[in-house]
Amino acid sequence: MSSFFTEKLAAWYQANKRDLPWRRTDDPYKIWVSEIMLQQTRVETVIPYFRRFVEVFPTVFHLAAASQQQVLKCWEGLGYYSRGRNLHQAAKTVVEDFDGKIPSTHKEISKLKGIGPYSAAAILSIAFNRKYAVVDGNVIRVITRFYGIPDDIRKETTKKHVQELADDLIDGNNPGDFNQAVMELGALICTPKNPACHLCPVSQYCISLQRMETDVIPYKSPSKKIPHKEIAVGLIVNEKNELLIALRPNNSMLGGLWEFPGGKREQNETLQETVIRELKEELGVDVEIYSKFRDLKHTYSHFKITLHAFWCKIINGQPAPKSSQKLVWVGLEGVDHYPFPKANKTLLNSLKKMDDLNLKRFLE
Ligand code: SF4
Repeated sequence: MSSFFTEKLAAWYQANKRDLPWRRTDDPYKIWVSEIMLQQTRVETVIPYFRRFVEVFPTVFHLAAASQQQVLKCWEGLGYYSRGRNLHQAAKTVVEDFDGKIPSTHKEISKLKGIGPYSAAAILSIAFNRKYAVVDGNVIRVITRFYGIPDDIRKETTKKHVQELADDLIDGNNPGDFNQAVMELGALICTPKNPACHLCPVSQYCISLQRMETDVIPYKSPSKKIPHKEIAVGLIVNEKNELLIALRPNNSMLGGLWEFPGGKREQNETLQETVIRELKEELGVDVEIYSKFRDLKHTYSHFKITLHAFWCKIINGQPAPKSSQKLVWVGLEGVDHYPFPKANKTLLNSLKKMDDLNLKRFLE
C-alpha cells in the first residue's frame, strides 16, 4: 500500500504541482522563510509577502542585520507576528552560532526560535533532503481519508497516529517532494469539502472513498465558542496635526507593533469610561472625549474584537509610555513607516480617507 501511494503521488505531483516562488529555489534560507510564512496562512496570501521579504532581506545576514521594526513592517498584514519576531531572532542565532548556515540536523534546527516539529521536518526534508515527514492540516486530511480513520483530529493520539503513518509512507529518496506532494494533494484535490476524488492519483485504494465517508472524515469535534472583547482606543491629536501612537511591549501579543493607546472594556464600564481609564493607566494623562470616530470588527485566532475609536483631548498631564515601549507623535503622511496590526491599520486607512485631513479641529 505504501509504495502504491508514494509512486502514484510522486507522478501526480511532478505533473500537477503549482509553480510557487519558493519551489524555484534550493536556498535553505528562502525555504525556511516560506515555511514560517505558510504556517496558518494560505498560499495565495503568502506569495506577495514572500517575494517582498526575500527582496528586502535576500540572505540570512541581511535579515539578522535588520531592525525588528523593518522586519515587522515587511510582515505587516500577514498576522501571527511572533513568527516574524522569532524568524528575526533565529536569523541572528544562525549568523552568530552557525556562521550564517541554516542548520541541517534536527537537533540543531529545533533550537532556533520559532522552529517546531512541523517547520523542522519541512525545512530539513525540502532544503536538505532529510527523511522527516511533515504533518499539517492538509496531510491529516489526506491520510485520515485514505486510511479511513474516523478519530477526532483534535486529539493528540490521532495526530500521533497520522504522524506514524506519514513516517511509514514517506519516500526516503525524495522526502521533500513527498511532503510537498501530500500537502499539494490536500490543497488541490483532497479539499475539505467536495474532494475531487475522480482526479485523485490514490483513489483506487482510498478507504473513505470506498465507504462513501469523505464527507465525515476527517472528524473534528466542535470547537469552543471563541470569546469576544470590546476594545476602546483614543485618537489624540497635537497642535502639529499628529496622532499619538504606542509601541507594544515585545513580550505581548502583537509585540513590536504600533497601536492607538487604549484597551479592553471591563464589566459594567461604558466604552467612554474604558478609554478614560486606559489612557490614564497607559499614558498617565486625563482625557476628555469628543466623539466616536468609528468601530470595526476583527477576528484573531482565539478571539474576536470590536475596536471602538474615540477622538480625545488631553486635559491634564504629559503622555508617558507607562505600559508600552515608547510613544510617538506622527502625522498621517508618516504612519506608513510604522508596522501596525490589522485593526489599527484599517482605522488608519479610514483616517486617511477623511474629507478634511486637518485633525487639529479636535483640539479645540
Ligand atoms: S480519493 Fe478522494 S478522499 Fe481519497 S485521498 Fe483522494 S481525494 Fe482524498
